[in-house]
Amino acid sequence: MPNLLEGKTALVLGLANRWSIAYAIAAAFKREGAELLVTYQGERQRETVEELAAELGAAKCLCCDVSRDEDLDKLAETFREANVTLDAVVHSIAFANREDLAKPFVETSRSGFALAADVSAYSLVAVSRVCKPFMTRGGAVLTLSYLGAVRVVENYNVMGVAKAALEASVRYLASDLGASGIRVNAISAGPIKTASARGVKNFGKILDQLPAIAPLKRNTDPAEVADTAVFLASNLGRGVTGNVIYVDAGFQIMGVATT
Ligand code: NAD
Repeated sequence: MPNLLEGKTALVLGLANRWSIAYAIAAAFKREGAELLVTYQGERQRETVEELAAELGAAKCLCCDVSRDEDLDKLAETFREANVTLDAVVHSIAFANREDLAKPFVETSRSGFALAADVSAYSLVAVSRVCKPFMTRGGAVLTLSYLGAVRVVENYNVMGVAKAALEASVRYLASDLGASGIRVNAISAGPIKTASARGVKNFGKILDQLPAIAPLKRNTDPAEVADTAVFLASNLGRGVTGNVIYVDAGFQIMGVATT
């Protein structure tokens, strides 16, 4: 099979380290022939992400804190100056205060709720708006969600509410941007050991218990999430928009289990 993303340029936001889902996606995009532009959140991630970007042969490695409009404007300015055309945009970003992922959901503060919603959901809207003028050939916007958007997952709390807003945003954005040939989808990934996931209290227990219940009897490999991202970004995914695709070893279909 020819490289699925040959001739395409992809922007990947949310790279922090080698364990980031964004890294697995960037590596799969590279394998499929895409030109990569990657971003990192701030100075703390810069050195590591610059090393990863060099390893991946990324054409650009840019700083962008998605909660700052000035950073998003700067990103657009860089694209304008370099005459960039984007075919795929991967939003692999979320954040909530650690204490909001440990105490009862009812205790969530106004500011904690707003922060999680801003970084984890609104940022997809802002990123899509900023990237749209550069997606002149149409293309694909992808984001990462989790089952906690539609079911109660212990300790996922305010992040589940933010993911629900993210998934609804995917549908509204897909409706808005479809006429421009831009498809917008989410991948709902099964639990994967990353820096963000470790912020959820008892996350390890979820990983331990899931293989006994999931139809495929194992946890999710980030490479499987990445391959679904390749499909969605490629011409193979041309009829799919406004969707949430589960890549979770089938866990989300299960009801009561006695094993
Ligand atoms: P990660 O910690 O490697 O990635 C999260 C990224 O978000 C980091 O690169 C971080 O720098 C970035 N980020 C946070 N706030 C930001 C801001 N203000 N501006 C720019 N970037 C910011 O963890 P991950 O698990 O790879 O998470 C990526 C996405 O996958 C998230 O949306 C997460 O909710 C989602 N997801 C993760 C899992 C899992 O189990 N790991 C499962 C389903 C969905």
